[in-house]
Amino acid sequence: MEKEGLSEILKKRTDGFNFQNQANATRRDSHTMIKLSNGAAIYNNGRCGKFLMGGVHGDERAPVVALTTFIKLDLEDVWILPCLNMQGHKELNHFCGDKNLNDEFREDTTLVFMQELIEILKNNKPNLFVDMHEDVEASNDYIWTDFDNDDIKEYCKANNLGLFYHPEVDEYYDSTKGTSQSFAREIGIKNCYTTETWAYSPLNRRVKRNIEYINYFLFEY
Ligand SMILES: [Zn+2]
Repeated sequence: MEKEGLSEILKKRTDGFNFQNQANATRRDSHTMIKLSNGAAIYNNGRCGKFLMGGVHGDERAPVVALTTFIKLDLEDVWILPCLNMQGHKELNHFCGDKNLNDEFREDTTLVFMQELIEILKNNKPNLFVDMHEDVEASNDYIWTDFDNDDIKEYCKANNLGLFYHPEVDEYYDSTKGTSQSFAREIGIKNCYTTETWAYSPLNRRVKRNIEYINYFLFEY
């Protein structure tokens, strides 16, 4: 609990977004975009039950908009990080500088804000980790996961969503090394899902779908 990175972040957390050059940040002062929906609980050794994150890729906007609508809710044990890649979001860039954050969920990342996030996740190990993206290729919305779970199958079926389930095979694992999925598996988070919306469909539809995703994971999962 006394980890320097976490207490720094808690002190600096804000309700707004703070756009800075993350890719080149060398000090632990760049991470004010973390909004913990119940910071007080964490100060008192509360833990993270559910962690929802958007904006890994700066050009995937709908999850950020949707998650932002939830950050004022004071939900116990829920942490919401609306936009991981603040720099990419500002620049409408898929990447953060020249780095794809999908490759940076690893212990040896050189990005300071990723080191902070990894430290937090390792120390708190949420029961549920939801990483929200958009996809320019798929023509429907879908969820992908390493984890075999009947609830997700039912949810996808009932909501006309695709489900992209990867069995735990080494070949697949190598190709996804550095993603939230592989990282979650490495550190023992049991439930990790990546949600996707089709990026070329209208923004209002995509935001609506992301709000549905969030409602499901927060209140029904
Ligand atoms: Zn993405």
